[in-house]
Formats: sequence, C-alpha cells, structure tokens
Amino acid sequence: MKNSSKLASESVMTQSNPDFSDNMKQSDDNKSRYCTRCTRALKACLCDYIRQVPHLAPLHILQHPSEVGHPKGTAILLAASLAQARLHVGEQVADVPELAALLADPALQCYLLWPDEEAISLARVRERETAEPARRVCFLLLDGTWRKAYRMLHSNPELQQLPRIKLDAIAGQYSIRKKPFAEALSTLEAGYHLLSQWERAPDRFAPLMTLFTHLNRQWHDFAQGRRS
Ligand SMILES: [Zn+2]
Repeated sequence: MKNSSKLASESVMTQSNPDFSDNMKQSDDNKSRYCTRCTRALKACLCDYIRQVPHLAPLHILQHPSEVGHPKGTAILLAASLAQARLHVGEQVADVPELAALLADPALQCYLLWPDEEAISLARVRERETAEPARRVCFLLLDGTWRKAYRMLHSNPELQQLPRIKLDAIAGQYSIRKKPFAEALSTLEAGYHLLSQWERAPDRFAPLMTLFTHLNRQWHDFAQGRRS
C-alpha cells in the first residue's frame, strides 16, 4: 500500500518550489543573468516548458558537484518537473545528511538506476514491493559523466549496497553530451522512462519529454548559429 500523502510531506522540494525571495538578494550582475529556477541563462530559460507532474515514488538525484550549473545538465530540469523529486549535491553520501538518513531508513527501499549485470527489472521491484509492503519504494539517480558517476558509486558503500535496477531497452535521444554507449540517457530522460515505466503512465509524464525536446532544439539552434 502506498501512502502518497506521507511521502509528499517527507520529501522536501526545494528544486521544485524555488525560493523566489532569493531574487531579492541577487544584486550582482552576473547572477541576475541566470534564472533562479532552472539555473540557465535567462535567454535560454526553459521554465515556460516546465510542468510539475504528480507521481507516487519519490525520486532522488545525487549530483556530482561539477555538474552544478552545467549548461547542458538536465538534473535540475528533471527535479523541477516532478512533485516529489529532490536534487542533492555531493560526491559522498556522508556529506549529504538528508540522503544518508533516507538510505538508512528501514521503512524505505531505495533503488539505484544502474543498469549493470546485477540490475533487476522493474517487474522484479514490483514483486519485492508486494512481498515487503511496509517498505516504501524510492528511486535514486546519479548525475554526472559516466566516469564520475562510476567513481561516486564505487566510493560510497551506501550506494553500493542498494539494489540496482535497469529499464526496458530505450534508444537515447540525447545528442548534446558525449555518451559512453548507445543506450546512455540524459538524467531527464532516465527520470522520465523510469517513472513512466514504474507507474505505467507515460502520458502523465509526457511534459518531461516535451521539455527535453525544447532543450535539444535550443542546443541544435545554438550550434547552428555558431556554425553560420
Ligand atoms: Zn528558468
């Protein structure tokens, strides 16, 4: 049984509900050229395309510090598009007390999206959830380059002990950043596919892919502008 109201109250949503009072504090010119919500340059702001989607399982993102403010990053767009998403920044779980507490909570079972040979399918997660209904399911994504995410996983025993999950095969549409392998997805796409497969409601999560399409178009236009 899912208790979504309890889940909602437990997940703090700073990324999804930005503190716009911060605008008042921004006096220096450089900062004011960036959107406080999507953190992108104002001329590349994608907030008009962000629609916050309701969902059942909380989603947590551990973002490598070098990804913060990266113009091609998508984790913040994913977090802003989900009602129960939380973006944590750090290389070590121990440096992020909220995440450390969550991973140690016996009432929660967090699954790490890491599609290696140990990873189980979402169908298997459903079986486990039925067998252990008292443990609520949540998901964790690592946001960084492949190399950095790999290092984060292997330097954190808290992450290594998590059950790993994989998605059904999907062709990645992300053409902006280098991919280590064909199936690599951006964090925004990964979150979309994970939640729409888990909740079996792709239509509800469609705004995430619309946002992704706008992001891709923006970058292609930008690249074209540079070439001409
Ligand atoms: Zn914005």
